[in-house]
Amino acid sequence: APGLYMVAVPIGNARDITLRALDILRDAEVLAAEDTRSLRRLLEIHGVPLGDRPCLAYHDHNGDRMRPRLLEALAVGRSVAYASEAGTPMISDPGFDLVRAAREEGLPVTAAPGPSAVITALTIAGLPTDRFLFGGFLPNTRSARRKGLEELRAVPATLAFYESPRRVGEMLADAAETLGAGRRAAVCRELTKRFEECRTGTLEELAAFYADATPKGEIVVLIEKGDSEKINESDLDQSLLEALETMSVRDA
Ligand code: SAM
Repeated sequence: APGLYMVAVPIGNARDITLRALDILRDAEVLAAEDTRSLRRLLEIHGVPLGDRPCLAYHDHNGDRMRPRLLEALAVGRSVAYASEAGTPMISDPGFDLVRAAREEGLPVTAAPGPSAVITALTIAGLPTDRFLFGGFLPNTRSARRKGLEELRAVPATLAFYESPRRVGEMLADAAETLGAGRRAAVCRELTKRFEECRTGTLEELAAFYADATPKGEIVVLIEKGDSEKINESDLDQSLLEALETMSVRDA
């Protein structure tokens, strides 16, 4: 059927594509992708012929130029399937302007739902999932990152971030400082891939571990919501300790 299909693709394991996603990729008249090479590879793995269908690159750098072309194809009744390089389109990935424009023009937009790293991490980390806030990528510079974390300190939900392996140590140290060292957290790496790993601990413990380690691969960081009573308790412990110290100094 005509319309724009936002197709989720695997985040690692190529077999995590859905049967419906493969149907849509097989049937769409026009294919578009953030990274056409990875889409072609995926089609090849699953034996979906591209044939003489156009396979167009659509990403942040050419979106303004390519969008009218895709909208025109949709307007004349073509089916267009769009895929990210990995996971679900729009989730820290391009697609927003395209979907918004298609909707504004009254063109049908459908999802072929599937993998996303944030949901995969939440599924295995053992942190609460009843409420979560997806923070995407935090800013790269230290002060902006701390400010971003500070803004989320009081959010009563599990926080989820995408992070690069190079910066994860710094990010965890900043999180420990701004959110509270005792918060439980998880670092989920290489999800669905051969070296998948999910390391849990307090922010302090994880920051200490990743201060020395230079992990490889792709990473999701999850942080449990702050327990406001607990935060007060540890503040209290600190003031008690200080008071005791003063007393013992005085008594000596
Ligand atoms: N659209 C994707 C999704 O739905 O998850 C996210 C794309 S974003 C540009 C890429 C980031 O997602 C990576 O830097 C990493 O933080 C996270 N990510 C993607 N694949 C992952 C995996 N297999 N394991 C852990 N994190 C992953």
